[in-house]
Amino acid sequence: DQRIARIASSIRVIPDFPKPGIMFQDITTLLLDPKAFKDTIDLFVERYRDKNINVIAGIEARGFIFGPPIALAIGAKFVPMRKPKKLPGEVISEEYSLEYGTDKIEMHVGAVQAGERAVIVDDLIATGGTLNAAIRLLVPKPIAERVGVTVVECACVIELAELKGREKLGDKSLFVLVSET
Ligand code: IMP
Repeated sequence: DQRIARIASSIRVIPDFPKPGIMFQDITTLLLDPKAFKDTIDLFVERYRDKNINVIAGIEARGFIFGPPIALAIGAKFVPMRKPKKLPGEVISEEYSLEYGTDKIEMHVGAVQAGERAVIVDDLIATGGTLNAAIRLLVPKPIAERVGVTVVECACVIELAELKGREKLGDKSLFVLVSET
């Protein structure tokens, strides 16, 4: 697909951000190219329309950029998965490990209903820890404790393939536009 090459070349890499040794994939330059941005959304929409998706769950912060236009185009609701203490209502939380320590993401109770079909959207998968926690928010174990939603797929613009994050997603599939090796 011609569109992928333009998307890939519109992503800027910033060395040593946010700390030395990290090659940060910066999607803000993709957003500056309206054609690349539209193509990005279109590729996800082409994949998910007509799949009975009810929920696009977007992960803070860059899942909030790509998720809503996909949700609007396919007629799904948008559910924000946020950093701790940002959502005002009652929340459920899932923890995940970082290089040092842990972090959490939260979702409003009642945002999703049993039987709904969800796609989880973020800009990038690295180790897969964040998406793993997002899956646990939607598909709790034991399942009876909370609502059970079907996670149809996780969708990211970029995958850092060497980190093998997709192996952390269990039986859930991962769809990416650009795989960086
Ligand atoms: P993971 O949990 O290790 O897969 O890290 C993925 C999360 O970290 C996503 O929410 C990304 O937005 C963020 N992230 C990690 N590395 C990068 C990067 O190079 N560019 C943009 N976001 C990144």
